Amino acid sequence: DVNTSATGGTTPAPTGNRATLSPGLKQATPVVVDHATGSWIHGTDGKSYLDFTTGIGVTSTGHCHPRVVAAAQEQCGKIIHAQYTTVMHQPLLELTEKLGEVLPTGLDSIFYANSGSEAVEASIRLARMATGRPNIVVFQGGFHGRTVAAASLTTAGTRFSAGFSPLMSGVHMAPFPYAYRYGFDEDTAVEFALRELDYLFASRVAPNDTAAMLIEPVLGDGGYLPAPPAFLAGLRERADRHGIILIADEVQAGFGRTGKFWSHQHTVGLVPDIIITAKGLASGFPISAIAAPTELMAKAWPGSQGGTYGGNAVAAAAGVATLAVIHEENLVENARVRGEQMLAGLRKIAAKFPQIGDVRGLGLMAGIEFIDPTATSSSPVADAASAAKVQQACIGEGLLTLTCGPLGNVIRLIPALVVTEDEMTTGLARFDAALSSVLG
Ligand code: PMP
Repeated sequence: DVNTSATGGTTPAPTGNRATLSPGLKQATPVVVDHATGSWIHGTDGKSYLDFTTGIGVTSTGHCHPRVVAAAQEQCGKIIHAQYTTVMHQPLLELTEKLGEVLPTGLDSIFYANSGSEAVEASIRLARMATGRPNIVVFQGGFHGRTVAAASLTTAGTRFSAGFSPLMSGVHMAPFPYAYRYGFDEDTAVEFALRELDYLFASRVAPNDTAAMLIEPVLGDGGYLPAPPAFLAGLRERADRHGIILIADEVQAGFGRTGKFWSHQHTVGLVPDIIITAKGLASGFPISAIAAPTELMAKAWPGSQGGTYGGNAVAAAAGVATLAVIHEENLVENARVRGEQMLAGLRKIAAKFPQIGDVRGLGLMAGIEFIDPTATSSSPVADAASAAKVQQACIGEGLLTLTCGPLGNVIRLIPALVVTEDEMTTGLARFDAALSSVLG
């Protein structure tokens, strides 16, 4: 059906549909944002919320940092988009130069895409093309995205991969050293996980048939668990021994978040073969990247990398501004210091609530794990209901948080890198109040 407009053109007749958002989405809060600044979200309900979710680390420099806003606005007036494989643009050249300065020595070649998932896929394609091997080893609790291939690599919860099998083949899961869950101390957990990896290599996946090991140096959606340095060092050693490519998924934990620029840098001397970055890279504009040594990146067949929106000019300009803000405002150090404040504060609070079994984190990533304190089993029994209730109670207190973990029993706090001492104190007080209202 068409209507004839006054100017003689045609427009489709209204269908009468009332469109709504997909029920396949899960809405963590009822908040509708009107505007946001720094660590704060101001809702259309007239309330202000301290945002300890930051789009899971996306709004790294805080909401609407004036410098990022200005860079994006200025770029919009110059050119919004030129597919960079067709016409190169300045912001991408500048971002590449600036990223080079924060990447480990030797990782000097960059491919840009739009999302974390897409960059994860690019890293897997590259690893397979470079090695000619099919298999990928991932670590339990890892989250690598929602596209079919990225979901195939994800073990942070069955909701991310169940129901649309068959998944991509060639993916094998090894344990992550989740000391608290196993009831081990950290050294024992590392020893156990590395032995199991070797057992996997001996029993099922020949190492010389393995293209890559893919790991988040701090598990994100899988429960906010930092990998002990000895574990990552063990992966590096095995990767070197077998010619396997070690891929660090730094999408959530990278870009200053943990108090070092890259989260794998907590393991002294460790350099991955490929780094995947996204989220915090452009303070909210969609852009992602993989970085690798040029000799490795050159194994990507010509034309195998590309994409319509990848490396968009406005996003790239926002990325350049984000890096400038991180340097000038000393945000990596702020993440370290405010992270220590957060963890110390959380540990104090947790001592009051037996339902909190574990508090852990690195920099501005903290996980609070809820358990049944009356359970007598050797391994802690998850209490997802309490985590969900506390997360909801936080909203009432004016604090936005999220849950995570395959069992849904972890609350994660991931404030902006610009969070101040006062804001952290306020956030902790609000979290304490929410805990008291639910568990107290
Ligand atoms: N890897 C990690 C570690 C992530 O945290 C995420 C997103 N939560 C992704 C990959 C996927 O990124 P995107 O949602 O941008 O596709």
